[in-house]
Amino acid sequence: MLKNNACVIGYPIHHSLSPRIHSFWLNAYNIEGNYSREEVRPDDLTMFLNTMVEKGFKGCNVTIPHKEKVKDFLEEHHWIDSAARKIGAVNTIKVVGEQLQGFNTDFYGFMASLKAGLAEGLEGEKKCDDLYGKKVMVIGAGGAARGIIYGLFNDLVDKVILTNRTQEKADKLAADFGQKIEVVPWEKKTDYLSDVDVLVNTTSLGMIGQPPLEMDLDGLLETAVVTDIIFNPLHTELLMDARKNGHKIIDGLGMLLHQAAPAFKHFYDPENEAFHGLPEVTDALRNYVLEGLR
Ligand code: NAP
Repeated sequence: MLKNNACVIGYPIHHSLSPRIHSFWLNAYNIEGNYSREEVRPDDLTMFLNTMVEKGFKGCNVTIPHKEKVKDFLEEHHWIDSAARKIGAVNTIKVVGEQLQGFNTDFYGFMASLKAGLAEGLEGEKKCDDLYGKKVMVIGAGGAARGIIYGLFNDLVDKVILTNRTQEKADKLAADFGQKIEVVPWEKKTDYLSDVDVLVNTTSLGMIGQPPLEMDLDGLLETAVVTDIIFNPLHTELLMDARKNGHKIIDGLGMLLHQAAPAFKHFYDPENEAFHGLPEVTDALRNYVLEGLR
Protein backbone atom coordinates (compact mmCIF):
# COMPACT_ATOMS: atom_id res chain seq x y z
CA MET A 1 0.00 0.00 0.00
CA LEU A 2 1.34 3.46 -0.91
CA LYS A 3 2.36 5.63 2.03
CA ASN A 4 0.49 8.84 1.30
CA ASN A 5 -2.24 8.13 -1.15
CA ALA A 6 -4.91 10.68 -2.14
CA CYS A 7 -7.05 11.21 -5.23
CA VAL A 8 -9.80 13.18 -6.92
CA ILE A 9 -13.15 11.53 -7.61
CA GLY A 10 -15.70 12.60 -10.21
CA TYR A 11 -17.53 11.48 -13.32
CA PRO A 12 -16.11 12.17 -15.84
CA ILE A 13 -12.68 12.81 -14.34
CA HIS A 14 -10.09 12.65 -17.13
CA HIS A 15 -9.97 16.48 -17.51
CA SER A 16 -9.19 17.16 -13.84
CA LEU A 17 -6.11 19.30 -13.23
CA SER A 18 -5.92 18.36 -9.54
CA PRO A 19 -3.29 15.60 -10.07
CA ARG A 20 -1.03 18.20 -11.71
CA ILE A 21 -1.38 20.60 -8.78
CA HIS A 22 -0.81 18.02 -6.05
CA SER A 23 2.06 16.25 -7.79
CA PHE A 24 3.77 19.63 -8.26
CA TRP A 25 3.64 20.24 -4.50
CA LEU A 26 4.65 16.66 -3.63
CA ASN A 27 7.79 17.24 -5.68
CA ALA A 28 8.37 20.79 -4.49
CA TYR A 29 8.18 19.83 -0.79
CA ASN A 30 9.89 16.47 -1.25
CA ILE A 31 7.00 14.50 0.19
CA GLU A 32 6.64 10.83 -0.59
CA GLY A 33 3.12 10.36 -1.89
CA ASN A 34 0.74 9.77 -4.73
CA TYR A 35 -2.33 11.58 -6.09
CA SER A 36 -4.52 9.79 -8.63
CA ARG A 37 -7.69 10.35 -10.64
CA GLU A 38 -10.51 7.95 -9.75
CA GLU A 39 -13.50 7.76 -12.02
CA VAL A 40 -16.46 7.08 -9.72
CA ARG A 41 -19.88 6.69 -11.31
CA PRO A 42 -22.82 8.06 -9.32
CA ASP A 43 -24.05 4.53 -8.60
CA ASP A 44 -20.64 3.59 -7.17
CA LEU A 45 -20.18 6.61 -4.92
CA THR A 46 -21.33 5.01 -1.65
CA MET A 47 -19.15 1.97 -2.27
CA PHE A 48 -16.12 4.18 -2.91
CA LEU A 49 -16.71 6.13 0.31
CA ASN A 50 -17.23 2.94 2.33
CA THR A 51 -13.91 1.49 1.10
CA MET A 52 -11.69 4.60 1.25
CA VAL A 53 -10.15 3.66 4.59
CA GLU A 54 -9.34 0.03 3.68
CA LYS A 55 -7.87 1.18 0.36
CA GLY A 56 -5.45 3.33 2.36
CA PHE A 57 -6.49 6.75 1.07
CA LYS A 58 -5.52 9.69 3.29
CA GLY A 59 -8.21 11.72 1.60
CA CYS A 60 -9.69 12.83 -1.68
CA ASN A 61 -11.01 15.79 -3.59
CA VAL A 62 -14.56 15.61 -4.84
CA THR A 63 -15.77 17.15 -8.08
CA ILE A 64 -18.81 17.18 -10.38
CA PRO A 65 -21.31 15.53 -9.93
CA HIS A 66 -20.62 14.28 -6.36
CA LYS A 67 -20.13 17.33 -4.10
CA GLU A 68 -23.70 17.54 -2.75
CA LYS A 69 -24.18 13.75 -2.39
CA VAL A 70 -20.89 13.43 -0.50
CA LYS A 71 -21.98 16.21 1.84
CA ASP A 72 -25.25 14.35 2.58
CA PHE A 73 -23.47 11.02 3.11
CA LEU A 74 -20.78 12.37 5.42
CA GLU A 75 -23.27 14.48 7.36
CA GLU A 76 -25.31 11.36 8.07
CA HIS A 77 -22.54 8.79 8.66
CA HIS A 78 -19.33 10.71 9.45
CA TRP A 79 -18.54 14.42 10.01
CA ILE A 80 -18.54 17.70 8.04
CA ASP A 81 -17.37 21.17 9.04
CA SER A 82 -19.66 24.16 9.41
CA ALA A 83 -18.67 25.79 6.08
CA ALA A 84 -19.46 22.61 4.11
CA ARG A 85 -22.81 22.37 5.93
CA LYS A 86 -23.76 25.98 5.14
CA ILE A 87 -22.57 25.78 1.51
CA GLY A 88 -24.22 22.37 1.06
CA ALA A 89 -21.25 20.72 -0.66
CA VAL A 90 -18.03 18.87 0.20
CA ASN A 91 -15.01 19.11 -2.12
CA THR A 92 -12.39 17.65 0.25
CA ILE A 93 -12.45 14.52 2.39
CA LYS A 94 -9.81 13.81 5.01
CA VAL A 95 -9.47 10.36 6.54
CA VAL A 96 -8.96 10.45 10.30
CA GLY A 97 -8.79 6.92 11.67
CA GLU A 98 -12.05 5.31 10.56
CA GLN A 99 -13.81 8.65 10.11
CA LEU A 100 -14.24 10.60 6.86
CA GLN A 101 -14.21 14.35 7.54
CA GLY A 102 -15.76 16.63 4.92
CA PHE A 103 -14.65 20.17 4.12
CA ASN A 104 -15.33 22.81 1.48
CA THR A 105 -12.18 24.59 0.32
CA ASP A 106 -13.73 26.18 -2.80
CA PHE A 107 -14.81 29.28 -0.91
CA TYR A 108 -11.32 29.69 0.54
CA GLY A 109 -9.87 29.25 -2.97
CA PHE A 110 -12.05 31.96 -4.44
CA MET A 111 -11.38 34.43 -1.63
CA ALA A 112 -7.61 33.79 -1.60
CA SER A 113 -7.46 34.31 -5.36
CA LEU A 114 -9.59 37.46 -5.19
CA LYS A 115 -7.47 38.95 -2.41
CA ALA A 116 -4.20 38.09 -4.19
CA GLY A 117 -5.59 39.73 -7.33
CA LEU A 118 -6.73 42.84 -5.48
CA ALA A 119 -3.32 43.30 -3.87
CA GLU A 120 -1.32 42.61 -7.06
CA GLY A 121 0.63 45.52 -8.43
CA LEU A 122 -0.05 47.73 -5.40
CA GLU A 123 2.62 48.77 -2.95
CA GLY A 124 2.75 49.99 0.65
CA GLU A 125 -0.35 51.67 1.99
CA LYS A 126 -2.20 51.16 -1.26
CA LYS A 127 -1.79 47.39 -0.98
CA CYS A 128 -5.34 46.69 0.13
CA ASP A 129 -7.03 43.32 -0.27
CA ASP A 130 -9.74 44.11 2.25
CA LEU A 131 -13.28 43.26 1.22
CA TYR A 132 -14.89 44.83 4.26
CA GLY A 133 -17.83 47.01 3.22
CA LYS A 134 -17.56 46.17 -0.49
CA LYS A 135 -20.52 45.56 -2.81
CA VAL A 136 -20.24 42.51 -5.05
CA MET A 137 -22.38 41.41 -7.99
CA VAL A 138 -22.53 37.62 -8.29
CA ILE A 139 -23.76 36.30 -11.63
CA GLY A 140 -25.12 32.76 -11.32
CA ALA A 141 -26.69 30.82 -8.46
CA GLY A 142 -25.31 27.29 -8.89
CA GLY A 143 -23.08 25.28 -6.56
CA ALA A 144 -20.02 27.48 -7.04
CA ALA A 145 -22.00 30.65 -6.29
CA ARG A 146 -23.07 29.23 -2.90
CA GLY A 147 -19.45 28.80 -1.83
CA ILE A 148 -18.45 32.18 -3.16
CA ILE A 149 -21.27 33.98 -1.35
CA TYR A 150 -20.35 32.15 1.85
CA GLY A 151 -16.76 33.37 1.42
CA LEU A 152 -17.80 36.94 0.65
CA PHE A 153 -19.91 37.29 3.80
CA ASN A 154 -17.22 35.51 5.82
CA ASP A 155 -14.95 38.38 4.75
CA LEU A 156 -17.58 40.94 5.69
CA VAL A 157 -18.66 42.36 2.36
CA ASP A 158 -21.46 44.87 2.75
CA LYS A 159 -23.84 43.50 0.14
CA VAL A 160 -24.24 40.95 -2.64
CA ILE A 161 -26.29 41.72 -5.74
CA LEU A 162 -27.28 38.33 -7.13
CA THR A 163 -28.65 37.52 -10.56
CA ASN A 164 -29.39 34.20 -12.26
CA ARG A 165 -31.11 33.10 -15.46
CA THR A 166 -33.49 31.02 -13.33
CA GLN A 167 -34.51 33.58 -10.73
CA GLU A 168 -36.10 31.04 -8.32
CA LYS A 169 -32.65 29.55 -7.71
CA ALA A 170 -31.27 32.97 -6.80
CA ASP A 171 -34.27 33.58 -4.51
CA LYS A 172 -33.67 30.24 -2.78
CA LEU A 173 -29.98 30.93 -2.33
CA ALA A 174 -30.76 34.37 -0.86
CA ALA A 175 -33.32 32.83 1.51
CA ASP A 176 -30.85 30.12 2.61
CA PHE A 177 -28.17 32.67 3.45
CA GLY A 178 -30.55 35.16 5.04
CA GLN A 179 -28.04 37.97 4.73
CA LYS A 180 -27.74 41.13 2.70
CA ILE A 181 -28.43 39.66 -0.75
CA GLU A 182 -30.46 41.64 -3.28
CA VAL A 183 -31.76 39.43 -6.10
CA VAL A 184 -32.11 41.35 -9.37
CA PRO A 185 -33.68 40.21 -12.67
CA TRP A 186 -31.32 38.59 -15.19
CA GLU A 187 -32.46 40.93 -17.99
CA LYS A 188 -31.85 44.03 -15.84
CA LYS A 189 -28.48 43.15 -14.31
CA THR A 190 -26.57 45.91 -16.11
CA ASP A 191 -28.80 48.53 -14.38
CA TYR A 192 -27.03 47.71 -11.10
CA LEU A 193 -23.42 47.90 -12.28
CA SER A 194 -22.79 51.43 -11.04
CA ASP A 195 -23.21 50.15 -7.46
CA VAL A 196 -20.60 47.37 -7.43
CA ASP A 197 -16.91 47.17 -6.48
CA VAL A 198 -16.43 43.58 -7.67
CA LEU A 199 -18.23 41.69 -10.43
CA VAL A 200 -17.94 37.88 -10.51
CA ASN A 201 -19.18 35.42 -13.10
CA THR A 202 -19.96 32.04 -11.53
CA THR A 203 -22.01 30.67 -14.44
CA SER A 204 -20.61 28.24 -16.98
CA LEU A 205 -21.09 30.87 -19.71
CA GLY A 206 -17.76 31.67 -21.32
CA MET A 207 -16.34 28.19 -20.78
CA ILE A 208 -14.90 26.42 -23.81
CA GLY A 209 -17.83 24.99 -25.80
CA GLN A 210 -20.36 27.34 -24.13
CA PRO A 211 -21.66 30.69 -25.36
CA PRO A 212 -20.06 33.77 -23.78
CA LEU A 213 -21.64 35.77 -20.99
CA GLU A 214 -22.85 38.77 -22.95
CA MET A 215 -22.83 41.82 -20.76
CA ASP A 216 -22.32 45.51 -21.50
CA LEU A 217 -19.83 46.70 -18.88
CA ASP A 218 -20.07 50.43 -19.69
CA GLY A 219 -22.00 51.15 -16.48
CA LEU A 220 -19.29 49.73 -14.19
CA LEU A 221 -17.37 52.05 -11.88
CA GLU A 222 -13.88 52.71 -13.23
CA THR A 223 -12.39 51.18 -10.09
CA ALA A 224 -14.45 47.97 -10.21
CA VAL A 225 -12.64 44.64 -10.43
CA VAL A 226 -13.99 41.88 -12.71
CA THR A 227 -13.38 38.21 -12.01
CA ASP A 228 -14.49 34.98 -13.67
CA ILE A 229 -14.26 31.51 -12.15
CA ILE A 230 -13.98 29.91 -15.60
CA PHE A 231 -10.35 28.98 -16.27
CA ASN A 232 -10.66 27.33 -19.69
CA PRO A 233 -10.16 29.60 -21.55
CA LEU A 234 -8.08 31.56 -19.07
CA HIS A 235 -9.36 34.86 -20.44
CA THR A 236 -13.08 34.71 -21.15
CA GLU A 237 -14.81 37.32 -23.30
CA LEU A 238 -16.07 38.93 -20.09
CA LEU A 239 -12.51 39.37 -18.83
CA MET A 240 -11.24 40.61 -22.20
CA ASP A 241 -14.05 43.22 -22.39
CA ALA A 242 -13.32 44.29 -18.82
CA ARG A 243 -9.64 44.68 -19.55
CA LYS A 244 -10.44 46.73 -22.67
CA ASN A 245 -12.52 49.03 -20.46
CA GLY A 246 -9.56 49.47 -18.09
CA HIS A 247 -10.71 47.25 -15.20
CA LYS A 248 -8.47 45.04 -13.13
CA ILE A 249 -9.25 41.41 -14.00
CA ILE A 250 -8.76 38.16 -12.07
CA ASP A 251 -8.99 34.83 -13.91
CA GLY A 252 -10.44 31.57 -12.58
CA LEU A 253 -7.21 29.58 -12.38
CA GLY A 254 -6.28 31.23 -9.07
CA MET A 255 -9.41 29.79 -7.42
CA LEU A 256 -8.55 26.29 -8.62
CA LEU A 257 -4.97 26.53 -7.33
CA HIS A 258 -5.84 28.10 -3.98
CA GLN A 259 -8.66 25.64 -3.20
CA ALA A 260 -6.11 22.84 -3.53
CA ALA A 261 -3.78 24.25 -0.85
CA PRO A 262 -5.82 23.39 2.29
CA ALA A 263 -6.73 20.02 0.72
CA PHE A 264 -3.03 19.21 0.23
CA LYS A 265 -2.37 20.05 3.85
CA HIS A 266 -5.21 17.78 4.97
CA PHE A 267 -3.94 14.85 2.89
CA TYR A 268 -0.21 14.83 3.16
CA ASP A 269 1.54 16.46 5.99
CA PRO A 270 -0.13 18.81 8.40
CA GLU A 271 3.10 19.08 10.41
CA ASN A 272 5.43 19.66 7.46
CA GLU A 273 7.73 22.53 8.24
CA ALA A 274 8.67 23.07 4.60
CA PHE A 275 5.47 25.05 4.19
CA HIS A 276 4.20 27.27 6.93
CA GLY A 277 0.46 26.98 7.04
CA LEU A 278 -0.26 26.05 3.43
CA PRO A 279 1.71 25.05 0.33
CA GLU A 280 2.47 28.04 -1.86
CA VAL A 281 0.63 29.07 -5.01
CA THR A 282 3.54 30.29 -7.14
CA ASP A 283 3.99 31.37 -10.75
CA ALA A 284 5.87 28.12 -11.36
CA LEU A 285 2.82 26.11 -10.20
CA ARG A 286 0.51 28.28 -12.27
CA ASN A 287 2.61 27.80 -15.41
CA TYR A 288 2.87 24.05 -14.84
CA VAL A 289 -0.91 23.73 -14.51
CA LEU A 290 -1.47 25.99 -17.52
CA GLU A 291 0.59 23.58 -19.61
CA GLY A 292 -1.98 20.92 -18.71
CA LEU A 293 -4.72 23.10 -20.20
CA ARG A 294 -3.05 23.33 -23.60
P1 NAP B 1 -23.88 24.60 -11.62
O1 NAP B 1 -24.24 24.34 -10.21
O2 NAP B 1 -24.35 23.66 -12.67
O3 NAP B 1 -24.45 26.09 -11.99
C1 NAP B 1 -24.38 26.57 -13.30
C2 NAP B 1 -24.75 28.05 -13.34
O4 NAP B 1 -24.56 28.52 -14.68
C3 NAP B 1 -26.20 28.35 -12.96
O5 NAP B 1 -26.27 29.61 -12.34
C4 NAP B 1 -26.88 28.36 -14.35
O6 NAP B 1 -28.07 29.10 -14.39
C5 NAP B 1 -25.81 29.07 -15.16
N1 NAP B 1 -25.96 28.82 -16.59
C6 NAP B 1 -25.65 27.69 -17.27
N2 NAP B 1 -25.95 27.84 -18.60
C7 NAP B 1 -26.48 29.09 -18.72
C8 NAP B 1 -26.97 29.84 -19.83
N3 NAP B 1 -26.98 29.33 -21.08
N4 NAP B 1 -27.41 31.11 -19.61
C9 NAP B 1 -27.39 31.64 -18.36
N5 NAP B 1 -26.93 30.98 -17.27
C10 NAP B 1 -26.47 29.72 -17.45
O7 NAP B 1 -22.31 24.72 -11.82
P2 NAP B 1 -21.23 25.24 -10.76
O8 NAP B 1 -20.70 24.09 -10.00
O9 NAP B 1 -21.81 26.41 -10.02
O10 NAP B 1 -20.02 25.72 -11.73
C11 NAP B 1 -20.19 26.84 -12.60
C12 NAP B 1 -18.92 27.02 -13.41
O11 NAP B 1 -17.83 27.36 -12.54
C13 NAP B 1 -18.48 25.76 -14.17
O12 NAP B 1 -18.10 26.15 -15.47
C14 NAP B 1 -17.28 25.25 -13.38
O13 NAP B 1 -16.33 24.59 -14.21
C15 NAP B 1 -16.71 26.55 -12.81
N6 NAP B 1 -15.99 26.33 -11.54
C16 NAP B 1 -14.72 26.79 -11.44
C17 NAP B 1 -14.03 26.60 -10.24
C18 NAP B 1 -12.60 27.07 -10.11
O14 NAP B 1 -11.89 26.54 -9.25
N7 NAP B 1 -12.17 28.06 -10.86
C19 NAP B 1 -14.65 25.97 -9.14
C20 NAP B 1 -15.97 25.55 -9.28
C21 NAP B 1 -16.65 25.73 -10.51
P3 NAP B 1 -29.49 28.36 -14.18
O15 NAP B 1 -29.65 28.20 -12.70
O16 NAP B 1 -30.47 29.27 -14.80
O17 NAP B 1 -29.40 27.04 -14.90
